[in-house]
Amino acid sequence: MKTPETSLFCADTKIKGDVYHQAQALHQGCTRCQACVSQCAFLQKNGTPGDIGASLLAGDTAVDPFACSLCNLCTAVCPARIAPESLFLEMRRQVMARNQRPNRRYAPILNYERRGSSRLFSWYHLPTGCDTVFFPGCTLPGTRPETTWSIYQQLKEQIPQLGMVLDCCHKPSHDLGRQDSFLTWFEDMREWLIRHGVRHIIVACPNCYKVFHGYGQGLTVQTAWELLAGDDIEPISSAIARGRITVHDPCPLRNHQDVHQAVRTILARLGLKIREMRHAKKYTICCGEGGSVGLVNPDMAGKWSEIRKMEAGDDLVVTYCAGCVGFLTRAGIKVVHLGDLLVNPAKALAGKAAVAGAPRTYLNRIRLKRRLQKAIKTCPETILPKKIEYNL
Ligand code: SF4
Ligand code: SF4
Repeated sequence: MKTPETSLFCADTKIKGDVYHQAQALHQGCTRCQACVSQCAFLQKNGTPGDIGASLLAGDTAVDPFACSLCNLCTAVCPARIAPESLFLEMRRQVMARNQRPNRRYAPILNYERRGSSRLFSWYHLPTGCDTVFFPGCTLPGTRPETTWSIYQQLKEQIPQLGMVLDCCHKPSHDLGRQDSFLTWFEDMREWLIRHGVRHIIVACPNCYKVFHGYGQGLTVQTAWELLAGDDIEPISSAIARGRITVHDPCPLRNHQDVHQAVRTILARLGLKIREMRHAKKYTICCGEGGSVGLVNPDMAGKWSEIRKMEAGDDLVVTYCAGCVGFLTRAGIKVVHLGDLLVNPAKALAGKAAVAGAPRTYLNRIRLKRRLQKAIKTCPETILPKKIEYNL
């Protein structure tokens, strides 16, 4: 079924601007080799990126860009080195630029973003001399406040002046094509951080990584896992670490080998035996949550988790994205978060890590904020930046 967004897109057959240029680049650059099509249910439904580009140029705009998970696997496998995902993101932007309001089925993710960025949930702490902050994102603190707290404490042992920022990176708006809103809100945060001396961001969420990496001019970004891989890590007792594990690399980090390696270093130091799945590292697949496809086209989103379930088999899956853990768990896959494994391996391997679901996640985030406020002696540099309020 077409979404209201698609219908509006179809109403104007004159594609223009970046969509036109992207369509032309795909039409001309794609050799129709099918390498990407064989990997992706969205392309199996719609044809090669070159054919999609040609159709758009011919005035046929029936393809629904909101069914593409923006996972970039097509780009990773493309021998012609073209980037089909860029076209679908541009199409989303064009649709959203025409619409006054997004599809109401996106309300849950946009409400989630709005709350994460509100005064109630956001919090900025910059100690004197701080040039590096931990930015754990929205989902990890909500689902795993204790793990978030422990990771912060471990990072502080390496960086005593480490600051903390609880806020949303606004990736939901970015991926839905709400580019003007995304740029306004993210730039407000980036500019404030730079102005207050921050130069380095440590993240625990792959989506935050992608946003800071792509848009955070003046800021470097690293995952917590890259820093923690260098710590002393106590091996798990062999009585607990039985069986094999496998790793689901989150798709926003497919091009970041240093992160893949750091995660595997941590797992090896914990004493866990890793079996790599067919789709791993650069060639990983989306868990199904990417691009918020599941909210408008759950069948398409489910195709990705079906593949993951088949590849994982009976092995326990370790991943380092709290969103992936949630989506894969709902698909019936045994999965644990790397942070939980680091903080309490016995509980995590026994499937007993404390993981909250909504609406408790919101309460957890407020409690974590209060805990941090109490534990950290407030200094004059701690200023809550002006948050731009916005309506859906
Ligand atoms: S970005 Fe992912 S879902 Fe979209 S076309 Fe490429 S492989 Fe398919
Ligand atoms: S892999 Fe590249 S060249 Fe081959 S069909 Fe896909 S986009 Fe075209």
